[in-house]
Amino acid sequence: MKWSGRRESGNVEDRRGRGGRMVVGGGLGAIVIVVIATLFGVDPRQMLELAPTTQQDSVPVDPHQEELKRFVSVVLADTEDIWGEIFARQGATYQKPWVVLFTEQVESACGFASAASGPFYCPPDQKVYMDLSFFDELQSRFGAQGDFAIAYVVAHEVGHHVQNQMGLTDKVHAMQGQVSPEEYNRMSVRLELQADFLAGVWAHYAQNSLDVVEPGDFEEAIAAAGAVGDDRIQRETSGRVIPDAFTHGTSAQRIAWFQRGFTTGDVSQGDTFGIDYDDL
Ligand SMILES: [Zn+2]
Repeated sequence: MKWSGRRESGNVEDRRGRGGRMVVGGGLGAIVIVVIATLFGVDPRQMLELAPTTQQDSVPVDPHQEELKRFVSVVLADTEDIWGEIFARQGATYQKPWVVLFTEQVESACGFASAASGPFYCPPDQKVYMDLSFFDELQSRFGAQGDFAIAYVVAHEVGHHVQNQMGLTDKVHAMQGQVSPEEYNRMSVRLELQADFLAGVWAHYAQNSLDVVEPGDFEEAIAAAGAVGDDRIQRETSGRVIPDAFTHGTSAQRIAWFQRGFTTGDVSQGDTFGIDYDDL
């Protein structure tokens, strides 16, 4: 993918090296802050986040990770342009998501998550969380090579944000407890496959409007779509990120839906909820 020197998104929050746990060390310090904050009517979480960190400055800069960060920022910028345009065409306004980079563990509105969870989107705070080391794993463990494999993952997570903006995420979450676990699992699969489709729509525009797709890119994304059945989705808007026990659709399904988005670039073709589950 041609990405060098292109616009980078400003919506990248770099929390690498900050651990993610309460930076004051929790315990009594945290309790004191919570009490003080409550007395002054301040959201204690805000204060805990503002507390100075000691680790931040001492983290050495890794050139490989810095390059990954720039790449992710460029892909995110592309998704902003593309989804901004698609939403505008429907008379709607696209609210850009944030991407939070972290190492090891992170606190989100969906609770604490470790890097082992893989990249995830948290609907309540509308942020995508990712530990950049996942992309090395994508290559070494899942065998998905190349920059477009990474771009696919970013676009898939942004796809979850698009679903959230469209109100689909809430609809699915509202079904939890209302339907059998099996049926809820199927809804989750529909949501995942649609995120793959939306990643494909991004790829369509990257090729046709931006002309940044290079030979072999499509295959890289297909390989990643087939390899990663492992991303994590937020199951309860109120709860934590739970290592998921459900499937994301078969590799063949994931590839097919990505391909469909890539070929058509037409959002209306991605109604994974409107067709028979067996036909997905
Ligand atoms: Zn997903």
